[in-house]
This record gives sequence, structure tokens and C-alpha cells, in this order.
Amino acid sequence: MEKEGEIQKMKLEKLKTVTSMEACYQGFDPVAYLRYNYTPPRADFERRNSIVPWKLSCLHRAFTEDDIRGDVLVDVGSGPTLYQVMSGCERFDRVILSDFLEVNRRELQSWLQEGKSSIDWTAYFKYVCELEGRSSSAWAEKATRLRSVVSDVLPVDVHQSCPLSPEFLHPSGADCLVSSFCLESVSHDLLSFNQALGHISCLLKKGGYLLLIGALGESFYMGAPELYIPVVPLDESQVCASLKASGYELLQLCIYHLPPDMKVGVDDITGVFFAKAKKT
Ligand code: SAM
Repeated sequence: MEKEGEIQKMKLEKLKTVTSMEACYQGFDPVAYLRYNYTPPRADFERRNSIVPWKLSCLHRAFTEDDIRGDVLVDVGSGPTLYQVMSGCERFDRVILSDFLEVNRRELQSWLQEGKSSIDWTAYFKYVCELEGRSSSAWAEKATRLRSVVSDVLPVDVHQSCPLSPEFLHPSGADCLVSSFCLESVSHDLLSFNQALGHISCLLKKGGYLLLIGALGESFYMGAPELYIPVVPLDESQVCASLKASGYELLQLCIYHLPPDMKVGVDDITGVFFAKAKKT
């Protein structure tokens, strides 16, 4: 009886923290978020050690080194951003974008359907074209390719055992999952992060690839002016242990250490990890 009471108390605590995380996200402002993280100095294509070019290079390398390709790629927690699927869109017949918030899904739809967006993605497309050995002038073709392969922009909740509505994905799962800065930014502790990782793994085929990008040592980030969103601070060993516990073979882990001038006051991140893992 006493044990049952403890379990109920734990469930209630979890519900409270998940609910407070959800409440935090109601104030998320895609325009501010994009400005904080996806303009210089964090997105400076003249500098190799700027965060965004580093992330784009990791994604490009991951897809090409193992020649990862297939039918379906799912991006979990896309936010208002497109960079994370600019390499993958060439290698999959169908790309599914997803986010918890309608404002973010609207931002993505607006670019997909009308070419309108709160930031100009052209320099991003050009950079990825160059990584692929194409001329930067091929950027418009890449943008067209991305528009043509994105089949859906869906609601997602990584705290649910079934994060996406099942009718959009074959029961065996996607060939590849990408997720960037989502799991640690929506989890109040390591246990919740691990559970979320377990939930999204259900979306991936056995033998499929997970490309996971995330923050290291971060306790908060700004989702709008005055909106401090709590983040579970992770270290490298926790990322490796979490992937192993969720049934992945870790193939590659790259770490980016934040240079002092990338600390622009919108978070307290110390580094970024890029993990390539295979579901066993
Ligand atoms: N992927 C983007 C990037 O690389 O910048 C956005 C990352 S942003 C830090 C975290 C994202 O998680 C937000 O877009 C937010 O709406 C989304 N999110 C919030 N709660 C979520 C949940 N329960 N399940 C999935 N995504 C969630």
C-alpha cells in the first residue's frame, strides 16, 4: 500500500514537471529564437568554428561516410529551423518534420508553401551545396528538392510513448531519425531525457540511424525575450550511456567546444555534441 502511494506521488511529480515544461513553451517565440541562434556569430559561414557551419559539416559527413539513405527520414522537434534536413533531403524520398508547437509548425509551413520565413535560409543552402561539392548557385535546386520531399509537418510530443500520430509512419519505423537540441531542452532531468530518447527510438527501424545533436552543460536557454527555458545539463559520458541504455550502438561522437565569442547571453551552453548511432 505504502509502495503504491510512493508510485502515485512520483507519477504526480512527473506530471507536474512535464506540465510546467509545457507551460514554459507557450511563450516560445520562433522569430527571437532564430535571431539568437541562427544569425552571426553563431551562423557565420566565413568561419569554420562558428556553431552552425560545424553542425552542417557533421550532418553532411554522417550521411556521406556511411552512405545513409532510404525511404523516410523523420526530424524530431524541428522547431522553426530547416538546416538539420538540408543534407538528408537529398538521400531520402520522404522527410517528415515535427514540432510540439503550432507556431513552429506554421513557420515551417510558411517556408514550404509560400517561400516565406523569418530568416533567410539561402546562405545555409549555399553552404551545404558547397559541402556536397556542388556550386553554391545550386542552392535554389536544393531548396526545391527540400520542398518536394517534405511530406508532412506534424505535431510531436517526446514525452508520449508514441510521439507521432501512427498513421504517418509505417509500423516498422523510419530509416533515419534526426533530432537537434530537442530532448535536453524539453526534459527536466536525466531520467526524463532518457525516457524521451526511448520514446523517439520507437519511431526508428531496427538497424536505422539516429543523428542526435544537442547541448552540453546547458541549464537554460532563451526561447523569447525574458523567457528562460530550463534544460537538463548533459555531459559526454551521459550522452553515451543514454544511447547505450536505449539500445543504440554509438558509431561516432563529435564535440564542439564553444569559443568565448559564441557565448552571446542567450543560454549557458558550454559545448555541442553530435552523435551518430545505429539502433540494434
Ligand atoms: N531543432 C531546432 C533546432 O535545432 O534549433 C529547435 C530546438 S528548440 C531548442 C526545442 C524544440 O523542442 C522547440 O521547437 C520546441 O517547440 C520543441 N518541444 C517542446 N516541447 C516538446 C515536446 N514535448 N516534444 C517534442 N518537442 C518539443
